[in-house]
This record gives sequence, C-alpha cells and structure tokens, in this order.
Amino acid sequence: MNQVKPREMVLKGISGSPGICIGKAYMVDREGVNIIERYPVSSSMVPREIDRFKSAVANAKKEHARIIEALDEDVSETLNILETHMALFKDKMLYGKTIDTIQTEQINAEWALRKVARKVKLMFQQVDDQYLKARVNDIVQVSDKIMSYLLGARDIKIGDITKRVIIVAHDLTPADASQIQLERIKGFITDRGGKDSHTAIVAKSLKIPSVFGLARATACINNDDILIVDGSSGIIIINPEEDTLFKYEERLARFEAYRADIERDSHLPAVTKDGISLSLMANIELVEEVVSAKDNGADGIGLFRTEFLYLDLERFPTEDELLVKYKELVELMSPQSVTIRTLDINGDKFNPYIDPVEEANPALGLRAVRFCLENKDIFITQIKAILRAAAFGNIKLLIPMISCMEELLQVKAIINQAVAELENDDKIFNKDIPLGIMIEVPSAVLMADELARQVDFFSIGTNDLIQYSMAIDRRNRRVAHLYQALNPAVLKMIKMTFAAAQKNNIELVMCGEMAGDPINIPVLLGFGLKNLSMNPASIPVIKKMIRNMDYQKACTFAQKVLKFSTVQEITRFTQAEYKDILPYKEMEE
Ligand code: PEP
Ligand code: MG
Repeated sequence: MNQVKPREMVLKGISGSPGICIGKAYMVDREGVNIIERYPVSSSMVPREIDRFKSAVANAKKEHARIIEALDEDVSETLNILETHMALFKDKMLYGKTIDTIQTEQINAEWALRKVARKVKLMFQQVDDQYLKARVNDIVQVSDKIMSYLLGARDIKIGDITKRVIIVAHDLTPADASQIQLERIKGFITDRGGKDSHTAIVAKSLKIPSVFGLARATACINNDDILIVDGSSGIIIINPEEDTLFKYEERLARFEAYRADIERDSHLPAVTKDGISLSLMANIELVEEVVSAKDNGADGIGLFRTEFLYLDLERFPTEDELLVKYKELVELMSPQSVTIRTLDINGDKFNPYIDPVEEANPALGLRAVRFCLENKDIFITQIKAILRAAAFGNIKLLIPMISCMEELLQVKAIINQAVAELENDDKIFNKDIPLGIMIEVPSAVLMADELARQVDFFSIGTNDLIQYSMAIDRRNRRVAHLYQALNPAVLKMIKMTFAAAQKNNIELVMCGEMAGDPINIPVLLGFGLKNLSMNPASIPVIKKMIRNMDYQKACTFAQKVLKFSTVQEITRFTQAEYKDILPYKEMEE
C-alpha cells in the first residue's frame, strides 16, 4: 500500500538564534513531568518528605555540577549562566518556600514544588519586562529539573545523541543546550521559552539556529520528520514540499556566506563609504554583558540600565554597593565611555521590594525620574555613586523620562547637592561628567531646544518615544501593530530632536531598539545620527551595513522619506533603495 506523504506544515514561534538548518527531527522530552499527583503527608512523615525533596535537589545539583565541570574554558558566558542556575537550586523563593509548603500544608514534595513554581511564575506574569520574564523562565527550568528527580522521570541526555539531527523538545535548560555537540546537532526548537531566555543566549553562543515558543511543536512533530528551522524569522516547516526545500537550501547557502562576511569585519570601525564615522555602542543591563559588548565590537556602553542591579537585593542598594558595580564596569570598558542611566522603575519595569502603588496607568505614572524626584534619598545615592565611579573612568550620567524643564532643573539641583555632600565628606569623585537626558516623551521633543541648553547630550529612547507619541501601551499586544519605528510621526520627532541638538551643539545618541534594526538605518544615517546604541548582538550587522553605505546618498534618501505619510510606503521605499545592503532577513520580506 502506498504511504500518504505527510503534508507540509508551518509553525510560527519566536526567533531564538539566527540561521537556517534542514534535517531530521529528534524528539527529546521529559516524560511524566506534567503528571503530578497531590497527596497528603502525615505530620510524622513530613521530615521524610522534606528529605526526599532535598535529595532530589542534591541529585539535580550534582548532575548540573558535572555539566559545568565538563565545559570548555572558552565558554564563559554559558558558564556564568549555568552558575546562576546552580544558585537557583537553593533559591529562597523556590527551595525555602517548597520546604515551607510541605511543612505547613502537609503535602507531597512534587505538589509543593509545582505550587511554588507556579506562584513564582504568576507573580511575574503581569510584568512585561523581558529581562524579568527570562529570569522566571530560569526558575521554572530549575524546578522542572528537580521535579524530574522527584518523579524519577527519564531525563534528556543531549550529550548522548549521536546523529546529525534537529532537537525537538518541550523545553531545554541552558545546561541542556550547553551539552549540544556542534558536529552532531544542527539546531533545536522548543514549545516553551522566549527570545531573552538564558537558553537563547547559550544558543546564540553556539551559533546554531533555534526557534522557541512554538507551543505545539512536540505535538505536531514525529521522530525523523524532515524539518526546516528558520531561526532568523522564527518559523519552522514540518515535512516541506520539494520546492520549499529547494528555496530554503538556497537561503541557507546565502545566509552562511552572509554570516562569514559579517564576522570577518566586526572589529572594523563603522565608517561609511564616503568617510563618515559612526559610533556603535551597546545597551547592557548587567556588568557581565561587557564581554558580549566587546566581542561584538562595541565602541562603548551607550546605555547601562541600572534597574537590573536592584533585582538581586531585597532592599535598595547602598552608595558603596553601586560604586563597586559602576567602578568595575568603567574599568572594564576603559578608555571607552559608559553611559549610566539612573533608575527607571515603575512603568514597564517592576521592582519586587518596592510596595507598588496601584496605578491605573503605570506607564503614565510615577515612573523613572518622577519616582526619583519623590524619593530624593534614593536618587542622591545613585548620583553620588556615579560621580565617585567617574574618578575611575569615562562616565556619562543619563536621566530617563524627562518631560519638562522643571524636572531637569530639580535634577540639576540634586546633582549640586550630591557634589556638595561628597566634597564635605572628602570623597574622591569627578563632577565634570557629561549630563544627558533621555528624549522619550513627546513634550521633551517639543521642548528639545530649551532642554538642550541645559545638558551635554540627548539620548533618544525610541521604545518609549513610540509608546508615548502613538498612544500605545508597550505591553498591550492588541495595539502592537501600531508600534512602528518608521511611522512618519516618530521620524519627525527624531528629526526635531536632532535639529535641537545640532543647533545647541550637543551630542545626540539613539539608544532605543530602533537603532539596532537594519531597516531603520538608512533614514537614521540620513538624518545625521552618528551615535547609535543597541543590543550587543546587533552591532556587527549594523556595522556591516554602514560600511556599505554612502552618507550623502542617505541624506537625500531621508529627505524623500519625509514626504511619505505611511509606514508601508517608507518601508517599501527603504527596501527598494537599499536592497543590496539590507541584511539577509530583510531581503526575504
Ligand atoms: C527606550 O525607551 O527607548 C529605552 C532605551 O529605555 P527603556 O527601554 O529601558 O525604557
Ligand atoms: Mg525608556
């Protein structure tokens, strides 16, 4: 009997790491992790139940330690991540709370662990901060690993796979991913996970294509199905037709040539063909990310989001604690500059130990500098730490979310007070550092000329500028289609800000996501922007583009762009004018 050929099927997920691979599916899964029973434990048996939990943790840790030990020394980023996971096995939120729950509710360890892990997940579910979400993912992965030991379930042994396959899993931990042997595994896809997860970071460092968050991959795919994984667009194709296969084989060859090209040139400066130099800097959230900034050829740190330093503690950090971190950062980056932004909490970012005041519209609430001006002691602590760290390297001070002159004047008064107090205390510090403000609220754009006279630089935060000018909540998926950097209104605001900076002879940086997306580069260059700060991984691609561009041509192009009134016209015009230099992904669209 003739077998019916399975039909081609496309699933859309989240791009994990770029690239294309074609190969056979290899299903790995943790069986049984989802089948968990709840049963009561008598008070005399509670200590035994706790011991059972502790021994599952100990075994999971042992396995994790073995993986760490076997790692090569040159994978420091992966090592850092795995060490973070190691600490999470004994995290208070997970370990301590599970033991508490077994004790107080007198229930079995599996149920207690699942309850605690779900609670942690729920706690963060409302938060639309990618960084925090990714950290929650780490806790879930660690709890799954403990669970597999509690249940005695069969676990993934990625290291034992001997075929050239594409791994299909419900979820993979960074530790799982770190065991992937490049000569064997072509790529991997998972039902769970997201772009900013630690597993994604490991996948990027391995340079194999991956797609996460596919939801139904394990349900739709069988072992040995032919798969195409397009990590750049975040799609997978199951059992492709012949012409699809042919199309992707061609794309694969083009992508490989393109990647080889980019990597060869990432250390070269970003200079246009007609000799205009740009500074491409990195946005980072943790001091540890300096390595990635440097590896990708960053010309400095254009945005250090300090809020993430506050997450590890259960209280606000002291001036000395902040100083240690900032000093480490500037010394690592020296002689390049580091722009440190003061705390931008509330709004979309959330700080677990501040009792959040219920605000109907947090993005329009007591966020960023507004919070700091109401909590002067917290603000002055940050400024003093920054001024003290400036004695050790090249620091710029950046204030987020200024919306009017009054706020800026208050900030300047507090900086003066910080200087006076440091002088009084005989501290070593440097008060002559550039002061900048984020331009991310439309009122600041309209007042840019006046504000420019008071500061040394502007940094355009397009993530918020788009949110506030288009009146769309960054967290609301239903209006996400209006979140467009190339909207003519957004472009006009950027142009106005640039004009004010130029008139007043101050520096202008762009540090929102817009700066790291290739399609936006021609118009930004054409407007005259020369300082762009972005996710470190985007730097080599943007550098490569700039090295192939002509500044004068971009200026003429940008003038024409301003005549269009829809995003679609601007996108199409950009694709047509720059088809030869837009990277691989943009060429396909
Ligand atoms: C921005 O708003 O563009 C920005 C860079 O800051 P954040 O994303 O931290 O709000
Ligand atoms: Mg912002």
